[in-house]
Amino acid sequence: MRAFEAVQQYFNSAADELELNDELRTLLTIPEREITVQLPVEMDDGRKVSLLGYRVQHNRARGPMKGGLRYHHEVDLDEVRSLASLMTWKTAVVNLPYGGAKGGVAVDSRAISSREKERITRKFVDEIHELIGPDKDIPAPDMGTDHEVMAWFVNQYNKYAGFNPAVVTGKPVEHYGIPGREEATGRGVGILTIKALARLGRKVAGSTVAIQGFGNVGAHAAKFLAESECKVVAISDVSGGYYNADGVDILNAARFARDHQNSLAGYPNADQITNEQLLELDVTVLIPAALGSVITTDNADRIKAKMIIEAANSPVRPEADQILIDRGIPILPDVLANAGGVTVSYFEWAQNRQFYQWNLNRVRGELDHLLTTAFETVWELAAQRNVSLRTAAFMVAIERVARATKLAGLA
Ligand code: NAD
Repeated sequence: MRAFEAVQQYFNSAADELELNDELRTLLTIPEREITVQLPVEMDDGRKVSLLGYRVQHNRARGPMKGGLRYHHEVDLDEVRSLASLMTWKTAVVNLPYGGAKGGVAVDSRAISSREKERITRKFVDEIHELIGPDKDIPAPDMGTDHEVMAWFVNQYNKYAGFNPAVVTGKPVEHYGIPGREEATGRGVGILTIKALARLGRKVAGSTVAIQGFGNVGAHAAKFLAESECKVVAISDVSGGYYNADGVDILNAARFARDHQNSLAGYPNADQITNEQLLELDVTVLIPAALGSVITTDNADRIKAKMIIEAANSPVRPEADQILIDRGIPILPDVLANAGGVTVSYFEWAQNRQFYQWNLNRVRGELDHLLTTAFETVWELAAQRNVSLRTAAFMVAIERVARATKLAGLA
């Protein structure tokens, strides 16, 4: 099953519950626009290569479209399409005034220099600038892109459209960005993990947590949960997993990674395990925060966690989702669990449009408020209708987008 089909399977389960008619199903499934562009770029050694860039604008019934820009060698149209549709449901479940989009360039971001990355970014803006903008479609960082890429993006876009920092979010804080954006997704994962533990009647202090991925999302989630007195017993990155039954010292691990080119390889204060073993640990909470499709029919039967929080996008395959549901393991779905990033992106966009700088306390307070409201809405609906948290989250989102579509006279 390809990526877009997997998201559609979740969409269809929720649409069935809502008894959504065929006309709306079609309108909410097919992306409004899909753009593929050729990007001829000169590399540092003088070679000229032609890369492929994509932007899928899935739905704008609720506002300008919003979604990240990914530089990764496996990027293709189907993946971008699936992530764009997830953004439509993610922005709707948190009730942000946005639709959904996603973009990408098929290039190995670790194999290119910073100068090459800059040229690729500027060329991509040259090709799509007419189709994006603060009122149309607002990109942001994703895998392989960061605040530096966003700064180049704004600079190139401004050459066409004049001063317009709200065209992208995730910019450097001192360059029209917002404090708290970098920590936002991981912090949101942490906030919602605490809410879910409380709803399941479990004590926060001493609950054990395993986190796959120690990048932006995983490391910030780990920090937040350790500060909340959870015991983070395992962390991992591409180099492998690190387990300590007494709890990994997260600040110490973060310092180690920073001093070793963002890698945990050789981290001394834990036992080395594999990423596969980490997923199967007997913990209270499992947080996949690295790649998609890591929980499949191959390992779903061996998952021992009492609850899964989807910090990564699509870490659980639909077939595995059903196995876990049947085993009574609740899954807080990606469209809610990792929505902290796009929520603070929304604050950044609002800040840019107000020409008024928000402070960190305000950002954290409003993030907590919006995520908590969305969480309570989804949890209540799941209980009321006796459906999974994922189906409930999709139901909340689909209802909002369908209503906006009807009010606009499109259905
Ligand atoms: P990142 O690049 O900062 O970190 C990724 C981490 O995953 C790194 O520690 C890396 O070593 C690890 N990793 C890579 N390959 C791995 C493998 N094969 N096995 C185990 N670990 C591996 O990325 P990030 O921003 O932290 O994003 C992580 C996930 O969260 C992605 O799925 C992303 O789409 C999703 N997400 C991110 C944000 C955001 O704001 N950054 C928002 C929503 C969703």
